[in-house]
Amino acid sequence: MSRLRSAAGRLRAVAAQSRAVAPRSRAVRYLRRFALRDSGAVNPYTIFADIIAGRAPASVVYDDPDVLAFLDIRPVTPGHLLVVPKVVARNLAELDPALGGKLFQVGQRLAAALRESEVGCDGVNFFLADGVTAGQEVFHVHLHVIPRTPGDGFGLRARATSPQRADLDYLAGSIRGALSR
Ligand code: 5GP
Repeated sequence: MSRLRSAAGRLRAVAAQSRAVAPRSRAVRYLRRFALRDSGAVNPYTIFADIIAGRAPASVVYDDPDVLAFLDIRPVTPGHLLVVPKVVARNLAELDPALGGKLFQVGQRLAAALRESEVGCDGVNFFLADGVTAGQEVFHVHLHVIPRTPGDGFGLRARATSPQRADLDYLAGSIRGALSR
């Protein structure tokens, strides 16, 4: 009984401690855990410019005045595609949002085509790496369209966390503020 009471006391102390930390400082601590910065060491040359200009080979599946899509040279699953804008945009910040919308639309069509084609996938993942820290290696924006079949070995590695609602609300407010600037 007394052991139970002291356990309850410890729990109350932990809860009080976590309430005592202001949401802002908790949010800052939470963000610091993920605060890797891009090195900025970005090679301005990309092979995609040569592919778009027809100077380098590619296995093209879709071509219109704004967008080109072709098979990835090192596919993570068979049929792995890259959808790229024809104008150079190194990252999302440089990409015309209308063109970003078009990349997504073409990605949607390709996802349907992959299911219908001999690739015969059961599912599709879209993936876009924006920045070195996010895994971007080619600095010409591109949307990966990755066909999925059971047991294909593809996956994202991540450790999910469980922040408190106050921290989520705090960050939501910060992001809403950035959106309205
Ligand atoms: P990121 O890591 O930048 O999101 O992805 C770059 C992708 O471009 C990689 O999946 C890589 O295999 C692909 N890639 C790199 N060079 C070439 C190339 O010359 N031709 C094609 N088709 N894909 C390439």
